[in-house]
Amino acid sequence: MPAAHTACMTATPYADFHARSLAERDAFWAEQARRIDWHVPPQQICDTSRPPFARWFVGGTTNLCHNAVDRHAARRPGDPALIWVSTETGQEKVYGFAELQAEVEAFAAMLLAQGVGEGDRVLIYMPMIPEAAFAMLACARIGAIHSVVFGGFASSSLASRIEDATPKLVISADAGSRVGKRIAYKPLLDEAITLSAHKPAAVLMVDRGLVAFERVAGRDLDYAELRRQHAGARVPCAWLESNSISYTLYTSGTTGKPKGVQRDVGGYAVALATSMDWIFGGKPGETFFSTSDIGWVVGHSYIVYGPLIAGMATLMYEGTPVNPDAAVLWRLVEQYRVTVMFSAPTAVRVLKKHDAALLKRHDLSSLRALFLAGEPLDEPTARWIAEGLGVPIIDNYWQTETGWPLLTVAHHISGVQAVPTRLGSPGVPMYGYDVRLLDEQTGEELTAPNQKGVLAIAHPLPPGALQTVWGDDARFVNTYWKSVPGREVYSTFDWGLRDADGYTFILGRTDDVINVAGHRLGTREIEECISAHAAVAEVAVVGVADALKGQVALAFAVLRDPGLASPALEAEVLKHVDARLGAVARPSRVLFVSVLPKTRSGKLLRRALQAVAEGRDPGDLTTLDDPGALAQVRALLGMSNG
Ligand code: AMP
Repeated sequence: MPAAHTACMTATPYADFHARSLAERDAFWAEQARRIDWHVPPQQICDTSRPPFARWFVGGTTNLCHNAVDRHAARRPGDPALIWVSTETGQEKVYGFAELQAEVEAFAAMLLAQGVGEGDRVLIYMPMIPEAAFAMLACARIGAIHSVVFGGFASSSLASRIEDATPKLVISADAGSRVGKRIAYKPLLDEAITLSAHKPAAVLMVDRGLVAFERVAGRDLDYAELRRQHAGARVPCAWLESNSISYTLYTSGTTGKPKGVQRDVGGYAVALATSMDWIFGGKPGETFFSTSDIGWVVGHSYIVYGPLIAGMATLMYEGTPVNPDAAVLWRLVEQYRVTVMFSAPTAVRVLKKHDAALLKRHDLSSLRALFLAGEPLDEPTARWIAEGLGVPIIDNYWQTETGWPLLTVAHHISGVQAVPTRLGSPGVPMYGYDVRLLDEQTGEELTAPNQKGVLAIAHPLPPGALQTVWGDDARFVNTYWKSVPGREVYSTFDWGLRDADGYTFILGRTDDVINVAGHRLGTREIEECISAHAAVAEVAVVGVADALKGQVALAFAVLRDPGLASPALEAEVLKHVDARLGAVARPSRVLFVSVLPKTRSGKLLRRALQAVAEGRDPGDLTTLDDPGALAQVRALLGMSNG
């Protein structure tokens, strides 16, 4: 990939600019805070008095919805704000800023009428339809805390999130759709509410007319009817202290229980506004297109809040990259004059299986860059898309927890030299992130080039990063800040390596989290689900390299009755996972074994299992209890069950 920009002779080197963002932290972020509207300006930029917690823009009051919608609607009411395209239902609709504000105010009025107020949780389980964005913005408007659950998750995943978030209200829809196949949401939601100890008082249903569903009398509400009642309602934005909670978003960790990543209001707004300018180079009036889903952090930051805060139109897409054909994304770029696009390497790998000429079918002259994140970007994929599109391909590394990119190249900071892209590396630490590479055993800083260490961030995390784990400060402190010996630093749980020029390379997770097509999944969650199947005595799930999806989950199960092993039982176990966690978490195979590889003390040797499954050397096996366990796995791979 060519270096996208030429460095200007008089510009500040990026490294100096980054160093200033840390050395003069408060002055740096005080300047950035001016990018958004405050009702009351911040009294203190960063309160670090209670590490590892940090509070940004203390005393300032603001509102995410005001900054994303109202302030643009006041000046440019007719400019496009939300462009919705569904290739699943053949619908396209453009909402201007004023129209978007009216929809959000009506939605906010419905929430208030249901008794939802500041600090109350609202769980959103929805497909990619405009009402999902209205719902999120309406919550932000009145200070309710939204918790969006990815529509691909099923009843158990949803139930554990309902139980943890204890929402007053759940918002859902009759169905989603994938390549023409309707996915009914309501039965999964009803089942989840049955499973959950917490019962929401009300369920607000958007009826798309895709799938018939049952309504629970006295609990279920109809969106269309309430919208008629509240059309034209005016609901002012609630001025929230900067550290109020805007949302929680669940993500997988090393235990079966997902963590509710909790974010603030003011810090998030400032971080997004800054990144939209400096990292993405997005300008008001232009169109931003992210192919992610509102159920993931990219959807929160760069489908809903980021582009709108920047005054851009955001393109929300229900569909896949290859339906009706593999040129659909480029058709949208041409039609809506997209300037900045954001996707995942998996989507590009899917396109790569199709004719490269499809990249040339449409006029892509509006497009300035394609950002890719969520999983490692392999070189062949990066080269293929760079050549096909002829625009810079920008890898960027971050996590649900950070909310915005931690490593990338930031091309758009005026007066600062652009950092050229380097294949295989997402780039360098972004301003505000005090990134450290540490020895896993000793916690010592690795300063020499090309050493592998744990990628960590020193206190305080920058604005926009998680405040804590919802309802569990101890888990936040113990999980993230106590994992590197002798240091209180935030662990990303990723291995990193820094080359002599300061570029960081990501070498995979240090924990049992796997990454399937850019989706983060905990192997423990999948194991807990499979072991709940009556036929299964014990199970191990590992992530295995996959050419298309990056990784896939592979399960090894010991049956209560080994005589029952059969392809039919494997199919049944996979269906069991689909119904409880969702197809997104479904392993590629469940292989039945008589014993799992464990140490003599009973610890499961996942790494060895993973190595064997990937055809690699499993390393030191002196602690292995039963040497036959891995031989059996080797023999089984590539063979069918039964
Ligand atoms: P999530 O919280 O779902 O966004 O997943 C975050 C994880 O995805 C990170 O901890 C990394 O393991 C991985 N990841 C995200 N972006 C990248 C990237 N650009 N390169 C390599 N790995 C990435």
